[in-house]
Amino acid sequence: MQRNGDSTTPCVALLSEVLDMQYLAPAFREACPGIDLRLGAELGPLEDIEAAVCWFPPHGQLAQLPKLKLVQSLAAGIDHIVADPQLPRERPLCRIVDPGMATGMKAYVSWAVVQRHRGMNAYVASSAAGRWEEQDVVSPRRHRVGIAGLGTLGMACAEALAGIGYQVRGWSRSAKEALPPGVVAFHGAGQLDAFLSGCDTLVCLLPLTPQTQGFLDAALFAKLPRGAHLINVGRGDHLVEADLLAALESGQLAAATLDAFSQEPLPPDHPFWADPRILITPHIATRTDRLVIAQQTLANLALLQKGERPQHQVDLERGY
Ligand code: NAP
Repeated sequence: MQRNGDSTTPCVALLSEVLDMQYLAPAFREACPGIDLRLGAELGPLEDIEAAVCWFPPHGQLAQLPKLKLVQSLAAGIDHIVADPQLPRERPLCRIVDPGMATGMKAYVSWAVVQRHRGMNAYVASSAAGRWEEQDVVSPRRHRVGIAGLGTLGMACAEALAGIGYQVRGWSRSAKEALPPGVVAFHGAGQLDAFLSGCDTLVCLLPLTPQTQGFLDAALFAKLPRGAHLINVGRGDHLVEADLLAALESGQLAAATLDAFSQEPLPPDHPFWADPRILITPHIATRTDRLVIAQQTLANLALLQKGERPQHQVDLERGY
């Protein structure tokens, strides 16, 4: 904190190599009028900066902040921060957990499952052509949706999908005790094949870690029921892109709905754009409320100032 008359003013840097972080400034000023915000090329005296809010921070920049107390992701994931080889790993690294983010993800995943299962894309075409044309209606009770990653967001989606009648299963690293009604859980490598064999739709909501990179590959697709639908709302690097194209070509997968990509924006000449079986959205499945980012950052900094543990600190050994 910087001394400013009698009061103290937090000094927070907004760091990103890919995003104009100016968009967060009004929320930080609303949460803390008078805050010392640093962003852009000129960060001013680096020894003032106590917290850094990050989305793909420039590699090496965090290591240059001598008084840094908090590294705060502006999102649920932290893969974009741990990719920095010079990350000061001894500083607490926190992620945002926001009920509003879970709400957005529930809506997106429910839409993605329903639009494919109910053939909504066909109605868009028939409506435009003025044709009264029914698609098969298969009861959701006969459609199995599997969610890989049964954490904050995966569990919320599992509950929502079970609530509209789908047969829902989830898979996580550790066993789950408390599950929403109608949701069945699998865990660990030993139960992965059993989980996959019952996924007419597979939703990826894993964090990106060394263990989950390339999770969505040919070997995994081969274990799904033939004609499955893949929804990737995790990270682009969960998916082996060439394996997806091959699985669609062979009919092992019928369709994919993708919200995250290894390269964002997805380049205009990328083969995914031209494949009618792939529905692309530009990483919009859900967003974190700006004020929540500001409030959680400032609350975490205050906790650290008091010598207390911040909220939603990431376990760097586990990787998420
Ligand atoms: P979270 O609460 O940390 O949950 C992660 C889940 O993945 C947990 O159930 C965890 O198992 C499981 N998991 C992790 N590593 C695993 C492994 N090796 N094998 C099996 N299961 C594993 O994360 P979250 O808040 O739900 O967010 C999940 C991810 O969603 C984020 O990391 C981010 O990549 C993505 N996301 C995308 C968007 C978007 O707009 N597309 C927005 C927000 C987030 P345990 O329960 O046993 O720990």
